[in-house]
Amino acid sequence: MQNTATPTHCPYCALQCGMNLTPAPDGTVEVSERADFPVNRGALCGKGRTAPAVLASGVRLTSPLVRSGGELVPASWDEALDRIAAGLRRTRAAHGPDAVGVFGGGGLTNEKAYTLGKFARVVLGTSQIDYNGRFCMSSAAAAGIKAFGLDRGLPFPLEDIPKSGCVILVGSNLAETMPPSLRFFNELRENGGTLIVIDPRRTKTAEQADLHLAPRPGTDLALALGLLHLVIAEGRVDAEYVQERTVGWEDARAAAMAHWPEYVERITGVSVPELRETVRLFCEPESAMVLTARGPEQQSKGTDTVGAWINLCLATGRAGRPLSGYGCLTGQGNGQGGREHGQKADQLPGYRKLDDPAARRHVAEVWGVDPESLPGPGRSAYELLDALGTDIKSLLLMASNPVVSAPRAAHIEERIRSLDFLAVCDVVLSETAALADVVLPVTQWAEETGTTTNLEGRVLLRRRAITPPEGIRSDLEVLHELAARLGVEKGFPTDPEEVFEELRRASAGGPADYSGITYRRLVEENGVFWPCPGAAEAVEQPAAGDTTAMAHPGTPRLFLDRFATPDGRARFVPVSHRAAAEEPDDEYPVLLTTGRVVAQYQSGAQTRRVAELNAAAPGSFVELHPRLAARLGAAEGDPVAVVSRRGRAVAPARITNAIRPDTVFMPFHWPGEGRANTLTNPALDPTSRMPEFKACAVRLEAVRP
Ligand code: SF4
Repeated sequence: MQNTATPTHCPYCALQCGMNLTPAPDGTVEVSERADFPVNRGALCGKGRTAPAVLASGVRLTSPLVRSGGELVPASWDEALDRIAAGLRRTRAAHGPDAVGVFGGGGLTNEKAYTLGKFARVVLGTSQIDYNGRFCMSSAAAAGIKAFGLDRGLPFPLEDIPKSGCVILVGSNLAETMPPSLRFFNELRENGGTLIVIDPRRTKTAEQADLHLAPRPGTDLALALGLLHLVIAEGRVDAEYVQERTVGWEDARAAAMAHWPEYVERITGVSVPELRETVRLFCEPESAMVLTARGPEQQSKGTDTVGAWINLCLATGRAGRPLSGYGCLTGQGNGQGGREHGQKADQLPGYRKLDDPAARRHVAEVWGVDPESLPGPGRSAYELLDALGTDIKSLLLMASNPVVSAPRAAHIEERIRSLDFLAVCDVVLSETAALADVVLPVTQWAEETGTTTNLEGRVLLRRRAITPPEGIRSDLEVLHELAARLGVEKGFPTDPEEVFEELRRASAGGPADYSGITYRRLVEENGVFWPCPGAAEAVEQPAAGDTTAMAHPGTPRLFLDRFATPDGRARFVPVSHRAAAEEPDDEYPVLLTTGRVVAQYQSGAQTRRVAELNAAAPGSFVELHPRLAARLGAAEGDPVAVVSRRGRAVAPARITNAIRPDTVFMPFHWPGEGRANTLTNPALDPTSRMPEFKACAVRLEAVRP
């Protein structure tokens, strides 16, 4: 490996910031600025800057581990792989293929997500596969498909944001989750545009806003309906657009008219003057956007909530117009690509539906199998985890840590412990990996090549910058070896580009069509936006620099001419307010909402092992209003117990006026007694199967020494 800089992308969030990696004398890599990537133009947050710390041998796994005498002990790769194959085979023989579960992650590259889905359906023959991205953006995906016929996080590049007239940011604290993206919103304001932030907390993002609305957690649906009511009442509907580009307006209009501003004020706590001001700021400019994130999405009515915000965009003629529209800020590194290529319970590669006969025929042909042999849709992520130890006896898990990140986490931990057999592939010994029968140490981002798709729908090439240490293998090698041990010798290549070439063919003609994209194009063009139809078969590569042989330029902006529905028109979806699955009562009088902090990422499995990040954010906390703290008799830093119907968590108090007095906040990155997800409610959205992470009823108890 040469000592020159390799341009690549961050291993963490969906921004997929560009960075350069240069091998260091100690065998790791140094991160340096990569200014040519338009998303971050060289800027990185602390997580990206410190990412190489997880490559160090004292932090990462360096050998396969197998359970022996109750302990995980080092083993050879052959022994570990043989044990996994035997465990999965045993379950299948005793209980049938659906007793074997597969759980993936939104951090897997497109190649790995694709291969994992194929492995589950072709080698194991199980329908029981889903992934942690279900907990991330599935409500926005379901709402986008209903309204527009297609889900791509942002239907426009981030660079459009500063040129828009107004952006409503609903339930996103991007100043902490993806700090380099804040510059797009700062530029928006410098250009005279308006930023409106909707969040129950006055977050660092809300502090930047022109207007901050702080609704009760779980009431974003009512808030959007109240705004639409005012749009109608004030004569601000774009009637021509509604007539020409949408269907279903009358029902959506009737639903909104039932939500009087005063009624919405009572539900949300947002005043009527604030609602009116929001409508004015959103409707007056020529262009405007609504961007949602986990706040409105992680609810038991998340699909309808996002649908209500989309209705607002449609009624005002925003969607599918330049510098305007609705978009979702996906969270995980490959949260977008991870939901497109087959690791989701109901999908096949190319974002095809698993129950679509034509899709099954197409993908089965690429895979060289009988379409009839492909299983049907399986359980969603929470339902799959909830079935562990009962219907599902063995689990193969990659790139996820549900012991920390799943809702009702103590119950899920107990389900995982009750499995007959658990195999985990990870880079560190996460809390979930520590429960496994076999743990396989796999390569990390700097040590492997593969594609991801960022929150804009831009497909990117992460490039290998260093050689992995002895004893580490890639997830693709693991799946290749397991397939061979389970009797499938072909069809599971270990070379990522070979997998991508097959993915191109499998995705051809699907909603997320990658068939015109090649690794070479990704390097030369610094990423390509899907859909990018092209040659469905592996093509002869054009000469370097010659992109003319590839007909399609990719699609940075969607829906400008038509939506992806059969008639090209967007669908209004009539939605009405309903309460959270669990509202406060006498026993549990306070609302809990959860989220992130800037120095940690997701379940913290990697970032908690980075000294600099750990020093900045060493543990969980309970953020609460001074009035609530006074009632409890708690001072800053005092341990506070938060109790829900599912369990109890204890963490130090952080007292601030930046949160509503009826709400407490906990970040969810830590295991142990401060684990926020011990408390969260797994009530599921009926369409997306998203659990309600963002609102549940709790009581607070002072913890006396
Ligand atoms: Fe990495 Fe996201 Fe930070 Fe960028 S914002 S450096 S992608 S974690």
